[in-house]
Amino acid sequence: MAERLYLPLLSGLGVTLKHFLRNIFRRGKSYTIQYPEERRNYSHRFRGHHILTARPDGSLRCVACFLCATACPAECIKIEAGEHPDVNIEKYPVVYDIDMLRCVFCGYCVDACPEEAIIMSNNYDMAYFSRDQSIATKEELSKPYTYDASQLGYRPHYPEEDAQRAAIREGVVDLIAEARRWQDGTVEAKAS
Ligand code: SF4
Ligand code: SF4
Repeated sequence: MAERLYLPLLSGLGVTLKHFLRNIFRRGKSYTIQYPEERRNYSHRFRGHHILTARPDGSLRCVACFLCATACPAECIKIEAGEHPDVNIEKYPVVYDIDMLRCVFCGYCVDACPEEAIIMSNNYDMAYFSRDQSIATKEELSKPYTYDASQLGYRPHYPEEDAQRAAIREGVVDLIAEARRWQDGTVEAKAS
C-alpha cells in the first residue's frame, strides 16, 4: 500500500511537465509574460494605485469630508482635516494616507467621493521593503505622473465612453454592425 503513494505525485508532476513543455514550445499562446519588461494591457477600469486629483490651480480637490474613509471596508484611509484659507472651501486634508497593504482595492472610496477627488490608476507596481513604505502619503498619491491618461484606472467618468454613448444617441454608431464586428474579431478590446 505504502509503495503506491508516489502514484498521485507522479500524476501531478505529469500535469506540471505537460504545461511546462506547452509553454516552451507554444510561446505565442503562452499565458506567461516576461514581467516587468512585458506588461499586460489592463482594463481602463482597473483598480490600481490611488490618485488624489487636483483643481486647475494645482490644489487638491479633496475637501476632507471623510466619506471615503467611512466607506472603506478595510479602514485603511487616514485623514486629518484642516481649515482651508479660501473661505469658499471649508476644509482640506492636512494628512491623507492610504495603507496599501490593508487596501483591498474595492474602489468604494472612489464611489463615495462627491468631489471626484480620489480615483484609481492602472498602476499595480506595489512592492515594499518595509511596512512604512506601504503607507501612501498625500504627496505620493498626488504625483503628477499619475495624470497620464493611459495610466488611469477606475474612476467615475470615462470620457471615451461618454463620447461613444453620445454617438449612439445620435445614431452615429450602428450597434448591430458593431456587435458583428466584435463577433468577427475585427475590433480589439480596449486595453487601457
Ligand atoms: S479601494 Fe477599498 S479598501 Fe482600498 S482605500 Fe479604497 S475603499 Fe479602502
Ligand atoms: S477624497 Fe473625496 S470622499 Fe475622501 S475626504 Fe476627500 S473629498 Fe471626501
